[in-house]
Amino acid sequence: MKTLNDINFKDKKALIRVDFNVPLDDTFNVTDSTRIEAAKPTIEKILNEGGSVILMSHLGRPKGMQDEFSLRHIVARTAEILGRPVTFASDCIGTVAENAAANMKAGDILLLENLRFYKEEEAGDVVFAQKLASLGDVYVNDAFGTAHRAHASTTIIAQFFPNDKCFGVLLAKEIESLNKVLNNSEKPVTAVLGGSKVSSKITVIENVLDKIDHMIIGGGMTFTFIKALGGQIGNSLCEDDKLDLALEILEKAKAKGVQIHLPVDVLAANKFANDADTKVVDVNAIPEGWLGMDVGPKSLDAIKKVILDSKTILWNGPLGVFEMDTFANGTIELGNFIAEATENKAFSLVGGGDSVAAVKQFGFEPKMSYVSTGGGAMLEMLEGKTLPGIAAILN
Ligand code: AMP
Repeated sequence: MKTLNDINFKDKKALIRVDFNVPLDDTFNVTDSTRIEAAKPTIEKILNEGGSVILMSHLGRPKGMQDEFSLRHIVARTAEILGRPVTFASDCIGTVAENAAANMKAGDILLLENLRFYKEEEAGDVVFAQKLASLGDVYVNDAFGTAHRAHASTTIIAQFFPNDKCFGVLLAKEIESLNKVLNNSEKPVTAVLGGSKVSSKITVIENVLDKIDHMIIGGGMTFTFIKALGGQIGNSLCEDDKLDLALEILEKAKAKGVQIHLPVDVLAANKFANDADTKVVDVNAIPEGWLGMDVGPKSLDAIKKVILDSKTILWNGPLGVFEMDTFANGTIELGNFIAEATENKAFSLVGGGDSVAAVKQFGFEPKMSYVSTGGGAMLEMLEGKTLPGIAAILN
């Protein structure tokens, strides 16, 4: 895997694909600068080696050149975070960008205008990619959030740097962390799969079955399994067309020696609302009209034991409807167990979709070994897919 350490950046212009797709308020102030901060290690390393950096990113989903999506809105904040001046080019290709790039000296930072002002970006246009490529000497991809897209700046551009391309710090860390969980893992390995539906997680489940010892199932997808096994699930979320699939998964797991842990009890509610009446019931005996909304206390005891015995933990998806306080307990407790296991030297990776939101919301981020920055991209990696943005650097 080629990283920043494999390239000498002295007097080189590094063209870095970053993910500066940050939220802005009504007066165009950056309201969450996590993504800009996340790019800092890559940028600093290159500048400290005597190189200069050209930053390219998308922002939002503009239709053509719309000022509200201009990256000029984030120049001041970027300069503040990097602690250095940042020059802005009001176009990402053409004379404006070429002149700005030509005038750069070692230590300079240039931010290009929104890549998605050109439809060629998302179309993966080769000519557009070549124009971008002409601006720099080395290509660095540090945008994990878009690594699953074959866009001009994330994938197509790499062919113009056959020897001078590498992963940035952030992207390298994503790849390493997933590798540590699925390929070089210390056993026992446990995957916690929650969230709403079996159908959206089936590829992940199938891919990880070969690599894990335990699978804890929670969240809405629980009930498709329980119904398939003959339980009464009341009005709980269920995909009736996936009952056979659920049984197939259980059989495959058995054949591969993976222990599946389904909840044994749930916190049920008489309506899908925070102020619902609630009671703890057996997962197989949810009364008609009631819905399973969170895992129950007996299930949490069992989950705790598995998690604390694990050396490697992958967490994808909440155990209950964590957006409502009444049903957040299971997800919070799971976070506590994984935090404890991590403190006891287990490696924990949280990634792919809503679990990252839950981890941030409940303050678990610093207690996990690694929290992925790219929801869709991580989900595709967990599904076993080779992301085009990653393949383009490796090839
Ligand atoms: P996903 O995006 O597939 O990870 O699913 C996350 C969503 O699953 C969250 O919005 C949760 O509210 C939802 N969820 C978790 N547990 C349940 C449940 N028991 N019933 C319905 N939805 C659930």
